[in-house]
Amino acid sequence: MFAVAALFAIQAAAGDVAPQEYFQQDVAYRIEARLDEQNEVLLGVGAMDYKNNSSQSLTELYFQLNLNAFRPNSVWAMTEQRPDYDFQNLEESAAGFQRMSSMSLDGKELTAEYPHAPDSTVLRYALPRELLPGQSLTLEFAWDARPSTLCRRQCRRGRSYDFAQWYPRIAVFDHTGWATRPLYPQGEFYGEFGTYEVTLDVASDQVIGATGVPVVGDPGWIPAAGSPLPEPDYRRDFYGPPEAPTSLGLFAGEAGPGRKRVTWAARDVHHFAWSTSPEYLYEAGRLGEIAVHVLYRPGDLDWDLGAAVYRTERALGWLQETIGPYPWPQLTNVHRLEGGGTEFPMMLMDGSASQGLIIHEGAHQYVHGIFGNNEWREGWLDEGMASFLSSWFFEDHGVADPWSNLMAGIGRAVSGGLVAAISTESAEFPDFRTYGLMTYSLPQAVLYMLRWHVGDEAFRAGLQDYYAAKRLQHVTESDFRGAIERASGEDLGWFFDQWFHTTGTLDYGIGSIEQEAVEGGWRTTVQIERLGENWMPVLVRIGTAERRAESAEAAQVVEVVTADRPTRVELDPYMALIDTDRSNNEAEIE
Ligand SMILES: [Zn+2]
Repeated sequence: MFAVAALFAIQAAAGDVAPQEYFQQDVAYRIEARLDEQNEVLLGVGAMDYKNNSSQSLTELYFQLNLNAFRPNSVWAMTEQRPDYDFQNLEESAAGFQRMSSMSLDGKELTAEYPHAPDSTVLRYALPRELLPGQSLTLEFAWDARPSTLCRRQCRRGRSYDFAQWYPRIAVFDHTGWATRPLYPQGEFYGEFGTYEVTLDVASDQVIGATGVPVVGDPGWIPAAGSPLPEPDYRRDFYGPPEAPTSLGLFAGEAGPGRKRVTWAARDVHHFAWSTSPEYLYEAGRLGEIAVHVLYRPGDLDWDLGAAVYRTERALGWLQETIGPYPWPQLTNVHRLEGGGTEFPMMLMDGSASQGLIIHEGAHQYVHGIFGNNEWREGWLDEGMASFLSSWFFEDHGVADPWSNLMAGIGRAVSGGLVAAISTESAEFPDFRTYGLMTYSLPQAVLYMLRWHVGDEAFRAGLQDYYAAKRLQHVTESDFRGAIERASGEDLGWFFDQWFHTTGTLDYGIGSIEQEAVEGGWRTTVQIERLGENWMPVLVRIGTAERRAESAEAAQVVEVVTADRPTRVELDPYMALIDTDRSNNEAEIE
């Protein structure tokens, strides 16, 4: 996600979870869904194959029904007290919902339970028999759903729909057990990687952008008039010869008059999202083998004539060079109804076509899409990283210094102390502003400090190692830390513990300075004081000489002998550290 504003303020230390043998469950969805615009509802049926690859027997299954957040009495609605996002008082016709009408196993109906009622974003089913390690089951289900007219990471307006979190989405079962949580404004998604075959039945003038490739049917991609760009590359055969889906029973015969059907396929993704609007204009791009699709609206002067295609390709090209090859056949960037942006695999739902938003949401293709972290437990691992990668992108594209304002601003923002550590679960931060600071801006600055400490080359190699080891898997802090440690050859426990698991801050200051004439020039001795709880190697500039002060002690001394007499001392001159008080970082030598 990228909220328009983010951010400042911040205690709670969390220990690392001991590493266990990694597993992930296998999931395969087949879905048929009909969008009934007249009644503003989507009717769906589906089947989901689920294989238990864990070493534990499962007695229950959990799903997230996150569209139920956007209606009265949800945890979200009761949490978010903002006049502009008043879901608690939303009229029924404006609210979103996701209602299961059936869920069956071997033809027997299961009983739905909502453990957080009246919130209904978490759905539980007790299994009639244990699902042993290595065993599979197939569930059949039917539901209806609709987004809310008050846009929040999903929306409907007129004939336009942004469908996110719209099908019963299986919760992740990982080494911590079932990862479920009611949807809160603070913290987003966590998903099980899987395979999707989704057939959408919509009005024939609808234009669709989605996760995956359109295997069969016409998504409505006619290049916008005047577009200098190529014809769309559908990549229909990316997953093998295009085949019509086997019927699940919602659709009998052909699509009705004035209707069409489009079947989509996607693999190795933990979410299937789609947007549709008859207004959408289409432009195509291509980056190597990867098809790029951009869908925007009439009058979008910042999107058209290839502008959004160019920025999307530029972002993706840089991400591939920096981290690793994009593993999917296409990337779709749609102008959604809401401002800001939200991350979905193979799909950016963007409220604008700014390069900053496109690189942030594009970065999420990697940090969340490919590295599938739990966004409500370790939001910094994708949001802080996406923010960091965005600034690095601009640095690599000629923006002279995208960092010093950030570092100075963050230093000031945390000078009053932190109320929680970065590793705190998102919903535990006291308010949305603190969540924003601790999930986006502060970790962005911490990652910049880490890059400065290990060096650009080692950081880049670390990201590539992370990709090689953990692509298309669930990740945690220890996976990322391990990759950077392998690349840098350094145990970075001291860094990660301080900066992600404590509320400590850093402040270096210059103490006494002594200077004397010696043979061949001048000896200058500078005392450096560590005033905050945290420590980092700090660069000391004495005249034109630079030294690294590496000690974690409260006081240390740096000495240089120079030909000319230095007249000035500066700590952290490149602003690489989150220093909460820079007024004691410079001193003149009398
Ligand atoms: Zn984000």
